[in-house]
Amino acid sequence: MLALAALVSGCSDGEGVRPAPGQQVLKAPQARALYSYAAKLRLAQARRAAAAKRWGLARTPLTAPPAPARKPVIRARDGFEVDEQEELDLPPVFTTIPTKNKVVFLTIDDGEEKDPKFLRMMSDLKIPYTAFLSNYLVKDDYPYFRKMRDRGVTLNNHTLHHLYLPGLSYAEQRHEICGMQSVMKKQFGKRPTVFRPPYGNYNQDTLRAAKSCGIKYAPIWDEEVFVDHWEYREDDQDLHPGDIVLTHFRGRNDWKGAMPDMVRRFMKKVTDEGYAVARLEDYL
Ligand SMILES: [Zn+2]
Repeated sequence: MLALAALVSGCSDGEGVRPAPGQQVLKAPQARALYSYAAKLRLAQARRAAAAKRWGLARTPLTAPPAPARKPVIRARDGFEVDEQEELDLPPVFTTIPTKNKVVFLTIDDGEEKDPKFLRMMSDLKIPYTAFLSNYLVKDDYPYFRKMRDRGVTLNNHTLHHLYLPGLSYAEQRHEICGMQSVMKKQFGKRPTVFRPPYGNYNQDTLRAAKSCGIKYAPIWDEEVFVDHWEYREDDQDLHPGDIVLTHFRGRNDWKGAMPDMVRRFMKKVTDEGYAVARLEDYL
């Protein structure tokens, strides 16, 4: 994108090396395409600035770089692997995506609060996020999450009943995880490949059960954002490139605010620190 922008400005300021006469004809249509691409980018940014203002954001969100051409290799975070993690090729548990891009990923769990305003806000601002759904909280309103899916959000597995999985047998864990795969397929048309264990608690049985029904990744999180504060996993109490941020579908019953208030708090820190929000699936 930067290279294109540089090319465009190089064309418009009349400086630099002039193309050889024979090249002029070939380059003209390409230059026009670049002009219109740059115009589109400017328009998209202006729309985003207007949306940010409408939704009361302190600053316009930064735009994430394009999805990486080559996906990063994702392994279990050190200390987060289970016995025979590699030998059994179990889904890795990780908190950060290996990338040098200044991006973070927003993941939203459970599904209790179904705030229509939140759906509009995220579409308007074009902030990507990924949802991890637990059936006992979403089953009273599947259509809300279908709307979310239709707006481009990936819906992932967060089990049937949100139990403490390490306290269950392999068969019980398999029921919790694989049972949710079937619900997701029936209600949303797709079996997810991404699963998050409730509370971030798991053992080897969890990952074996998850793998047995098509799960490839088990991301947890490096930061958690609430409506009124942040919590950090690392000692430096800060964001890092590729960090996965957790929050929840919660509203005024649990929080001193609504989901849009949480988004404003999230975006304030992310933008102030120079990060953009990227799509998790672009890196998996
Ligand atoms: Zn949860």
